Amino acid sequence: MARLVVTNANLIDAVTPGVRAGCSVTVEDERIVEVLDGRRSPTTHGAEVIDLRGAYLLPGLWDAHVHLEWPRIAQAGVPELTAQYLANAQRALLEAGVTGMRMAGAPHFIDVALKRAFDSGQHVGPRLYTCGWFLTTTAGHALGTGFALPCDGPDEFVRTIREHIQAGVDHIKLNLTGGIMGPAWDRHWHSFFTESELQAAFAICHQRGLKVMAHAASAGAVKAALRLGAHSVEHGYIMDDECLALFREHDAWFVPTLGITHLTPGQATTRWEKQWVEQRGLSPDLVKRAEDAVGEHRAWFRRALAAGLKMAVGSDVRPVRDGALLELGLWVKSGATPWQTLQAATRHAADICGVGHDLGTIEVGKLADLIVVRENPLDDIDNVRTLQLVFKGGRLVADHRGAAMSR
Ligand SMILES: [Zn+2]
Repeated sequence: MARLVVTNANLIDAVTPGVRAGCSVTVEDERIVEVLDGRRSPTTHGAEVIDLRGAYLLPGLWDAHVHLEWPRIAQAGVPELTAQYLANAQRALLEAGVTGMRMAGAPHFIDVALKRAFDSGQHVGPRLYTCGWFLTTTAGHALGTGFALPCDGPDEFVRTIREHIQAGVDHIKLNLTGGIMGPAWDRHWHSFFTESELQAAFAICHQRGLKVMAHAASAGAVKAALRLGAHSVEHGYIMDDECLALFREHDAWFVPTLGITHLTPGQATTRWEKQWVEQRGLSPDLVKRAEDAVGEHRAWFRRALAAGLKMAVGSDVRPVRDGALLELGLWVKSGATPWQTLQAATRHAADICGVGHDLGTIEVGKLADLIVVRENPLDDIDNVRTLQLVFKGGRLVADHRGAAMSR
């Protein structure tokens, strides 16, 4: 039996707030079998031992709103996209410590294929929770991205969702409203579905036991999604008090995707944010749309946090390796504590994917998806960028200890 013991860890287990010094964690095969504090020594006989020398051990990070595309390839076919998505997913795992991802739209079921390749061990990659295409309407959102599939009329939604079930997705992504990043006729306060399309799409998901991940950016659409039983609402740029009450009433999740409105040249403060906005080069029109929306978006994020809603970190920002780390910083900048933010990017993100019993914390019995960072992320959330080691299922997949780097 393969046995691994990591010793001298400053442990952040995502369960008990704060750091516990001098801890050791023992992994057998894929799972954590023992967690000891500094008062007791682990049995290391016959085990591979890694001395962390006081570095910080925490659960692998998650991004709960991912599109794997980027950079956008003109007229990309399935082969080009598959190669690109594989590389982007692997970089997020190996270079940022993102061990889990919840997909928010990928064409041609590439996400399902990658999930199978990663789960079978054919390729090293993060754990993926898949949705297939981003289901919208004609004149809907994200039509220029290549991952959106327009459906019109209740029957088309029903047939398309059935095709997704047959392809093996984990959840269904429905695009109820416009977004910030889009052409002039796609605005985030526009609702897209007719009443009969909404009813039919949610009904078939409900009938087949599939969770709905609802892109909803206005108060009316957020409420419609929650009343129809959405598992999660993504974005929520504009909400009202009734939305907050409905989240609680239906025990639904909120994924605020702060990066969409907060990452503009005028708002970037850290060197990573500045680097990203420079590379991204958003058009002046899109910068204005983001900045016009950011005040209200941030206010509802804070209200949701204060109301104690179930929330997970999801970036919606490309590439996913950068997005996850940027979103963590934006949560703290917008009023969350580093502890709240780390929990939302580990424990809660695993919960939103329905795998909280197996992943998301460092506890006996869980799968050992772990990362080690040099500096304390509870002092400064950007310390998650001092990545040293990445373990997936107890297997060391990345070792950056030789490189003096900060991502
Ligand atoms: Zn998205």
